[in-house]
Amino acid sequence: MKTEDVARFRSVLGEQREHVRRQLADLGANPDEDTIEPAGFDYGFADSAQSTAERAKVLATVESLRAELHDIDTAIARIDKGTYGSCERCETPISPERLEALPRTRLCVACKQKERV
Ligand SMILES: [Zn+2]
Repeated sequence: MKTEDVARFRSVLGEQREHVRRQLADLGANPDEDTIEPAGFDYGFADSAQSTAERAKVLATVESLRAELHDIDTAIARIDKGTYGSCERCETPISPERLEALPRTRLCVACKQKERV
């Protein structure tokens, strides 16, 4: 991969990382902690009839944001190691189109499809 492409992906990933961290913070979750349950989460929800449904929804969102953040961090670490852009499983270079669409992707299309089965 060309140096300027790597630099561009790094900056895109950096922006996405900030964005996800901000979303987590907005939901009351600490972006630096791995716990799913945001700290002080019950506050303000206790008396609401919708609390259980609301809570489940927020937790699901937090969980998926954390997974996204983890993938972004991994992608940035792989840029630092010089292994960015190749599949984590089979080490085939991931297509540029796929990286453009999803810069944090860890697997090539073939491995991703195998994972879904
Ligand atoms: Zn692969």
